[in-house]
Amino acid sequence: MKNKLLPLLLILIVMMIACQPKQKNEQPKDSFKFLVEQFADLKIMRYQVTGFDSLTLKQKELIYYLSQAALCGRDITWDQNYKYNLRIRKTLENIYSTYKGNKETEDWKKFVVYLKRVWFSNGIHHHYGSDKFIPDFSSAYFTDLVKNADQAGFPLEKGETTDQFLSFLVPVLFDPAIAPKKVSQDPANDLILSSAVNFYEGINQKEAEAFYTALKRPNDNSPVSYGLNSKLVKKNGKVTEEVYKIGGLYSPAIEKIVFWLGKAMQVAENEQQQKGIELLIAYYKTGDLKTWDDYNVLWSQDTFSRVDYVNGFVENYDDPMGMKATWEAVVNFMDQQGTKRAEIISRNAQWFEDHSPAEPRFKKTSVKGVSAKVITTAQLGGNCYPNTPIGINLPNADWIRKEHGSKSVTMDNITYAYDQAALGNGFLEEFCYSEEERKLVEKYGYQVGNVTTDLHECLGHASGQLLPGVTSEMLKNYQSTLEEARADLFALYFVMDQKMVDLGVIPTLEAAKAEYNSYIRNGLMTQLTRIEPGKNIEEAHMRNRALIAHWVFEKGSAGKVIEKRNKDGKTYFVVNDYQKLHTLFGELLAEIQRIKSTGDYEAGKKLVEKYGVQVDQELHKEVLARFKKLHISPYGGFMNPVFTPVMKGDQIVDVKVEYPDDYAGQMMKYSKEFSFLK
Ligand code: ZN
Repeated sequence: MKNKLLPLLLILIVMMIACQPKQKNEQPKDSFKFLVEQFADLKIMRYQVTGFDSLTLKQKELIYYLSQAALCGRDITWDQNYKYNLRIRKTLENIYSTYKGNKETEDWKKFVVYLKRVWFSNGIHHHYGSDKFIPDFSSAYFTDLVKNADQAGFPLEKGETTDQFLSFLVPVLFDPAIAPKKVSQDPANDLILSSAVNFYEGINQKEAEAFYTALKRPNDNSPVSYGLNSKLVKKNGKVTEEVYKIGGLYSPAIEKIVFWLGKAMQVAENEQQQKGIELLIAYYKTGDLKTWDDYNVLWSQDTFSRVDYVNGFVENYDDPMGMKATWEAVVNFMDQQGTKRAEIISRNAQWFEDHSPAEPRFKKTSVKGVSAKVITTAQLGGNCYPNTPIGINLPNADWIRKEHGSKSVTMDNITYAYDQAALGNGFLEEFCYSEEERKLVEKYGYQVGNVTTDLHECLGHASGQLLPGVTSEMLKNYQSTLEEARADLFALYFVMDQKMVDLGVIPTLEAAKAEYNSYIRNGLMTQLTRIEPGKNIEEAHMRNRALIAHWVFEKGSAGKVIEKRNKDGKTYFVVNDYQKLHTLFGELLAEIQRIKSTGDYEAGKKLVEKYGVQVDQELHKEVLARFKKLHISPYGGFMNPVFTPVMKGDQIVDVKVEYPDDYAGQMMKYSKEFSFLK
């Protein structure tokens, strides 16, 4: 996709002249600043809303309203992540803006880095590893900060003194034993009690399981997503749900979301989209999960509107029980060129399903409504900001996916920004075994990466079926990892198929080799750069990549399918036999599909625990040392562009897009203008 570069640059020049007059003289016209800043293990980038100017006024207006709605739920995500996150953020921000002491010291710099990390993670737990991160400065310094800032700006409880406030807050921030993990996946402990996430209060795992088992009806072919939009609490000894809705939990923020959705509804592109937004509003008003399903059915069928969005309690990765969803939002519009590529893949869905190595009884005889499109991201909110996915496949309810299909999107302007921000950082030079391997990635990596994401999202998640009576929740804490593994394996298996070349989505199978090299390099080695020394792998996607890479490495060891080599004291993994590796991916895909289709919890647990969790300590040390020398942040996130309506009287005559580059400034602005919860 090298030829994409030129039109992008041209559009960029136009946009920069049109939208950033102030910076026109400060930056060369042909370079967009993708990388904004780096701190701790994070890098902050920006993405371009390429093609925004080609939209109609009505579409621009729709994007503006949906973007406002996307920002209004920010506080919900913070509160869901941990019950004290909002109080902590307000405290840190008050210090940041009103501290009267010396702001030139090392301690102050450390405080700012801590605040930036908290902003990034929407709370005090690492967004990826889920561990609480402890400030790099002392609690004595923190006390000094609090005492020398504007006292009226702190979120004190009624009658609470600053000293009382400090004695509550200091241990929460500094004691590693308090709320150590946002989400604990360790089956040896009570999953709820050992997780800091704010979905349950005074409830243990057994009580939650009993509560939801009692709700479920046997032989229900279209079950609602029980527990999805509520906090489970104990009131007067009775277990009960506090529902997220207007008049319920998080009402002040949900009211604002609904206000902007109401505006969006009036400029919807067509009747179906309008009806969808109307249902979403009804759901936010009632909290009724049946309405949520109705909305999702409609939403999944709207594959033709140019502008689209996600807004709601959607993904359940952060609930150790896999039921409750964190609030998130994405606003986007279709990238018509990229979509052609994804459509080719999705049009052939049945061919892929028929040729999948899974057992016939676990396959769909007819794959319905697998839709696919490539989108340009316009705004990120809630759990998608600033750390965003690069692909989305929704809705999540199994029965809707089976009966009505699902919608799958690839966020190309995000992957493009990642790619551009990483150019020339030395990573490939360090971890590729040969010049040839590096050149292969440089030539095909970005392109084949997008195709693999399409395969993962459009086909992987949508493929296969469960046996009657089986639900994905039966895999409990291993569900997310196994589901991601299934989708990855589907993509890996087929990307090496001649069919991909015949369909014209990759130019040659050499491109697929680049993908195999990268996947193995990452799964066995380079993703360890994201793990702290001595820690195991926790996050679902990382577990899945480790699982797949270690499994094929072990199963192919006799034939040296993948070889561990040493050069100048450095470890490398080299793929020797791509065809055999392709076969191994197929075998593992068949097994994981079997586990999912039959709800085989024990087998799933065994696979994940054996291949996906443990870290080779020696290799980890080496990789970290090599990585450290490159000074690259392993995690990335994005600032949002800003949409501003251009008014003539009370009429919107245009919407302009700007790209601020002050990360702290954007966070402070959001806290000032989009904070609706206490
Ligand atoms: Zn996925």
